[in-house]
Amino acid sequence: MPKKIIVANWKMNPSTVDEAENLLDNVLQGINVGRNEVIICPPFLYLPRIKEALDYKEKEGVVLGAQNAYLQNKGAFTGEISPLMLKHVGVEYVILGHSERRKHFFETDQMINKKIKACLENGLKVVFCIGETDEEQVAGEKEKVLTQQIQKGLLDITDFKNIIVAYEPVWAIGTGNSCSIQETKNSVDFIRKLVNNKTRVLYGGSVNKDNAKEYVKEGKVDGFVVGGESLIPENFIHLVNSL
Ligand code: PEP
Repeated sequence: MPKKIIVANWKMNPSTVDEAENLLDNVLQGINVGRNEVIICPPFLYLPRIKEALDYKEKEGVVLGAQNAYLQNKGAFTGEISPLMLKHVGVEYVILGHSERRKHFFETDQMINKKIKACLENGLKVVFCIGETDEEQVAGEKEKVLTQQIQKGLLDITDFKNIIVAYEPVWAIGTGNSCSIQETKNSVDFIRKLVNNKTRVLYGGSVNKDNAKEYVKEGKVDGFVVGGESLIPENFIHLVNSL
């Protein structure tokens, strides 16, 4: 079975760095990563402490990720965090293009394209998120939306070895309404045809401890982006260990 990638997107949780370290400790005590890879993506502020804890625990196959990055390495960009800074604190992966960033922070495909390039130039690996909204799905525009997000987001990028695509239908994120296995498989096949069939494609959207395995077996996904379930150690452990 090829290696699976599981991205734990903690979003803006938990509320303190101590709780974050606790969450990590609990997860590390129970997960059996095997040949797979688990990417822990805490809020920016917790990255150094989580990196320290990861180094101390030396759990093979568990690495650090960030939830965003700016598109420049330094300068007058108040409030932003650069790819170079992330690299220096030991981040390996960066989530880019997440639907929450597209929606709440008005990130465009063009900005995401620049961010992807900036991260790649700094030796970071990218988890590039794409997916249609509820309205777009109902209007039958899913393939059009995915095509546009891929063409614009990956414009002028020729080396895909450090890029992972995550198919995350917006209507499935945080709703408990996960995408059916067959529909996920169709979308993932469609994405592989558009990008290339060597690039790994993850699924994200209400994945839980009970449904993850089926997505791998029948949906042929290369792993997951996990939001809500990654904050509940026993469920996340169960999810990872089921793969
Ligand atoms: C996500 O935030 O990318 C996500 C998939 O969240 P959830 O698992 O909560 O749907």
